Amino acid sequence: MLHTGRHFLQIPGPSNVPDRVLRAMDAAVIDHRSAEFAELGTEILDGMKWICRTAGPVILYPSSGTGAWEAAIANTLSAGDRVVMCETGQFSNLWRAVAERFGIQVDYIPGNWRRGANPAELEARLRADRGHEIKAVLAVHNETSSGVLSSIPDIRRAMDAAHHPALLMVDTISSLASMDYRHDEWGVDVSVAGSQKGLMLPPGLSFNAVSEKALRASETARLPRSYWDWKEMMKFNPKGFFPYTPPTTLLYGLREALRMIREEGLENIFRRHERYGEATRAAVRAWGLEIVCEDPAQYSSSVTAVFMPEGHDADKLRAVILDNFDMSLGAGLSKLAGKVFRIGHLGSFNDLTLAGTLCGVEMGLGLAGVPHKEGGVMAALKSLAATNKKPEPAAMAR
Ligand SMILES: *Cc1c(COP(=O)(O)O)cnc(C)c1O
Repeated sequence: MLHTGRHFLQIPGPSNVPDRVLRAMDAAVIDHRSAEFAELGTEILDGMKWICRTAGPVILYPSSGTGAWEAAIANTLSAGDRVVMCETGQFSNLWRAVAERFGIQVDYIPGNWRRGANPAELEARLRADRGHEIKAVLAVHNETSSGVLSSIPDIRRAMDAAHHPALLMVDTISSLASMDYRHDEWGVDVSVAGSQKGLMLPPGLSFNAVSEKALRASETARLPRSYWDWKEMMKFNPKGFFPYTPPTTLLYGLREALRMIREEGLENIFRRHERYGEATRAAVRAWGLEIVCEDPAQYSSSVTAVFMPEGHDADKLRAVILDNFDMSLGAGLSKLAGKVFRIGHLGSFNDLTLAGTLCGVEMGLGLAGVPHKEGGVMAALKSLAATNKKPEPAAMAR
């Protein structure tokens, strides 16, 4: 079918890339050993430290987020090491699989995909590990498959309460720059991030923010690594360079995205995403559908996963919406396939983008013959209007 106007890319990443970023990327590639490049490299690496809220190094890779998962493991662990993590959904499953392919033993605490990581359970496992065999706790901050947030401060407190020296490694791929995240203050050792979600870039960049403790662990860790080696990166990064050819055009985009984020201010960005989450959930409730996340304290601000009524196929609904309204919604992943659809509301996005998105869902529910009540869009508009306050000046820009 022929479509006019802009495609609505309302999956929870890749997210819509703003025009400013697209234009910034439409520029000639420069010599990556030049003084001009060093300025670019320095600005973006400093900017990423600010976004991750860390004084330590942030390593950047030309890869999807999965590469940064691998880097976190390959730089800090040795074959046969034990780690512990909670099952929160498909992304915890996938990170676990990366670890296991490296010969890491993963203590995987089962979960129902509707709740976040359980700090009490983690604390019990760590207390029981008197010999300190567990080398790391792995956690997915925002579980994109279910729209469930895990509290990283609570996990840190559990580790401290157990007086356990394990590293804390956190996947913040779908939360960084859309929900509050603090690498240093929360005592995270390795943060794993990607470009194509809150950072509003195309896919292709990933990040590791690294604590001093993680750097020390990397000195004795024995997993083989070359491309992912932090050490090589850290020889070049302080001067704004990379050990191998960097993806220059994506870096132009990142520079522009960081400028946009500074202009808006992190607090304002987080508040904006909270409003989208609240309004989306108001719509889902008004439709009479069920939100996957069971605990209101764990609602995600960047993605809402919604159960279909029994006997109705989420993928058919998504196809109807794509055909008729040129809007992509996220599929249910793995065991939620066909049962769940996901509305991405992150990144380059405003009140009217959300309104349009929810209109597409409501019209699609009707066209696909999915039983629901009318009025979801109206409930969302009311929610948006009620919370539409003028944002503060970009207070957290520095
Ligand atoms: C998108 C996502 C990833 C995967 O990243 P890729 O870029 O596809 O490799 C990992 N974790 C979370 C939580 C994500 O949302």
